[in-house]
Amino acid sequence: MSTKKNEHQSDIVIIGAGPAGLFSVFEAGLLKMKCHVIDSLEIIGGQCSALYPEKPIYDIPAHPKVLANELIELLEAQAQPFNPIYHLNQSVVKITKKEDQSFVVETSKKTLINCKVIIIAAGCGAFGPNRPPLENIEQFEGKSIFYSIRNKAEFANKKIVIAGGGDSAIDWALTLSETAQKIFLVHRRDKFRCAPDNLDKLKKLSTEGKIEMVIPFQLHGLEGNNGILKQVLVKDFNDNIKTIEADYLLPFFGLAMELGEIANWGLNLHKNHIEVDYATMQTSQKNIYAIGDIATYKNKLKLILTGFSEAAIACHDAYKIVFPDQIFHFEYSTSKGINNN
Ligand SMILES: Cc1cc2nc3c(=O)[nH]c(=O)nc-3n(C[C@H](O)[C@H](O)[C@H](O)COP(=O)(O)OP(=O)(O)OC[C@H]3O[C@@H](n4cnc5c(N)ncnc54)[C@H](O)[C@@H]3O)c2cc1C
Repeated sequence: MSTKKNEHQSDIVIIGAGPAGLFSVFEAGLLKMKCHVIDSLEIIGGQCSALYPEKPIYDIPAHPKVLANELIELLEAQAQPFNPIYHLNQSVVKITKKEDQSFVVETSKKTLINCKVIIIAAGCGAFGPNRPPLENIEQFEGKSIFYSIRNKAEFANKKIVIAGGGDSAIDWALTLSETAQKIFLVHRRDKFRCAPDNLDKLKKLSTEGKIEMVIPFQLHGLEGNNGILKQVLVKDFNDNIKTIEADYLLPFFGLAMELGEIANWGLNLHKNHIEVDYATMQTSQKNIYAIGDIATYKNKLKLILTGFSEAAIACHDAYKIVFPDQIFHFEYSTSKGINNN
C-alpha cells in the first residue's frame, strides 16, 4: 500500500539486490511477507551482474555450471510470484526507528519506506564508479563525462576519450568506434585485461586509424566550460603532457565499494562487516538483520550458497516480528507451494 507518491509500506525492506537479497524475497514470500528491495545500482544482481555477468559459477547446488547473469535471471524469476517492488539506482542513506519499533528507510532519491523489518544484504557496500582524481571533474560529470553508457546514439560523430584497460574500456571502444568520429584509448601500459578476440579487433581498428591508442599515458586534466568538455590532458611517466580535443571522456576504472552510510546506523561492525548472531542473522539492532557477504560471524564463508541459507534463517526469524499474533508452523515449500498471494 502506498501512502504518498514516494512513500511506501512494506513488511520487509531489503537493502541490496544481490543474490542474497533476491533470495530473501522468495523466502519472505513463502512466509507471506512483502518486500521492497533497494539497490544503488541500476540493475539487480549485485556482484554477479556488476563484476562478472558472463563468468560461469560452478558451486551453486544443483547447477553444475551457471553463468552469473543467468543465476540472477533465475533468482528474479523465483522471486517474481511474490511481487517485490524494486527501487534501483538509489542508496539507502538513513534508517529511522519509530516508537513502535518499526522503521522508516530513506534513500538518496527521497524514497521513504515504512517497514517492520530490515534485511541488510549489502555485500561489500554500495557500488560506485572509481572516479579519476581530476580537478573540476564534478562540473563535467553527467554532461561530458560518463561512467556508464545508456544511450549509444549520443556519442555518434563525436570525439571520445576512453580511459582504462579492462573489459569495459575495450568493449566500449570497439562498440562506439562504429559510429564515433574518433576514439582515443588512454591506458598507462601496453597490456589489456580483455577477451583475446577483442584485443585482435582493437589492434585492427587501431591500424585502420579508427581508434588511436594513447599509451603509456594517464589522465591529467580537463579543459572546457559549463560542463562542456573541449580538451582532455594526458601525461606520460616522463611528465610529457599531450592535449586531446574531445567531446566526451569515458573513464572505465572499475567499481568501488563503500560501506558508506551503513557504518552510521549504530550496528556492531567488525572490519567493515556487520556482526550477527548466526542462529538468527539478527544484528546488534533489534529487527535489523544482515545476510550475505556483509554479515560476519565465526568461520563465515563468503559464498552465494551461504547467503541463500542466511536469507532463509533471517526470514524465518523475522516472521514473529511481522506477525506477532500468529503461531509459526514450519512447512516445506513442497507443501506450501508459491500460490499464497
Ligand atoms: C569475480 C568474482 C567471482 C566470484 N565467483 C564466485 C563463485 O564462483 N561462487 C560463489 O559462491 N561466489 C562467488 N563470488 C562471490 C559472490 O559474488 C558474493 O559472495 C555474492 O555476490 C554476495 O552476494 P550478496 O547478495 O551478499 O552481495 P552483493 O552481490 O555484493 O550485492 C550487494 C548489493 O547491495 C547494494 N548495496 C550496498 N549498499 C547499499 C546501500 N546503502 N543502498 C542500496 N544498495 C546497496 C550493492 O550495490 C549491491 O548490488 C565471486 C565474486 C567475484 C567478484
